[in-house]
Amino acid sequence: MGEKTFYIGCHLSFSKGYESMGVQALEIGANAFQYFSRNPRGGAAKEFDKSDADKLLDIAGSNGFAPFLVHAPYTFNPCSADAGLRDFARAAMGEDLLRQQNLPHSYYNFHPGSHVGQGREKGISLIAELLNGILFDGQSTVVLLETMSGKGSEVGSSFGELAEIMEKVELNQKLGVCLDTCHVYSAGYDIVGNLDGVLEEFDSEIGLEKLKAIHLNDSMTPFNSRKDRHAKIGEGSIGLEAVARIINHPKLSCLPFYLETPNDPDGYAREIALLRSLREI
Ligand code: FE
Ligand code: FE
Ligand code: ZN
Repeated sequence: MGEKTFYIGCHLSFSKGYESMGVQALEIGANAFQYFSRNPRGGAAKEFDKSDADKLLDIAGSNGFAPFLVHAPYTFNPCSADAGLRDFARAAMGEDLLRQQNLPHSYYNFHPGSHVGQGREKGISLIAELLNGILFDGQSTVVLLETMSGKGSEVGSSFGELAEIMEKVELNQKLGVCLDTCHVYSAGYDIVGNLDGVLEEFDSEIGLEKLKAIHLNDSMTPFNSRKDRHAKIGEGSIGLEAVARIINHPKLSCLPFYLETPNDPDGYAREIALLRSLREI
């Protein structure tokens, strides 16, 4: 048995509520999970059910779960050219963060967005502006910017862009980063051939202490393809050996890993078992 806990899990559906996700996680051998804060298409959030959430907190506490990773709808565009769409994202994300005050032990992950022709600099300042509008003193949740693949006009596919956003945010002690292995590999960070070098670059641009979570995915497309197509673990261009190095890397092995691979629950259970077998520490 290793000295360090291996926090491994996957994306789960919130449709049956909080306790149900804890039960599902245990069934598939997970001690970590992610879910969408609301319908990914951006609909209204469920009303907060405290007794249901308390049951999840019990399960998580007695089984030593990693923080819940709450994912904002990927349809939100914090740097849209349309002020109405930016306002919509800001209002919903602000509401999500307030709800998360009732759910300690969680992170809030979002996609920085696409600048849609306004240019990187404009995109970066709009994203920072949105964050300055929703972060607050006393906030219990750390908000994570997700590393993006760079498809289209996505902002946040380089560590430098994420650092620039964070520098413009006043309460940036409330910010962290979630590294998506499929996205960074597609964005041109060679985590297969030079994982140490990529982590050094992350450390010098952003600071490794800001890295809070890993989205663990293989990629259906080649290195530096700037596409965003997740593959099952070991079935893509990243491959099983590189995945094993990632989960065992001394600078990453303490972090929670969340699978977002194309799987049903049985497939996730098999992937989690495979990853546990590859864990060396
Ligand atoms: Fe994501
Ligand atoms: Fe992701
Ligand atoms: Zn993705």
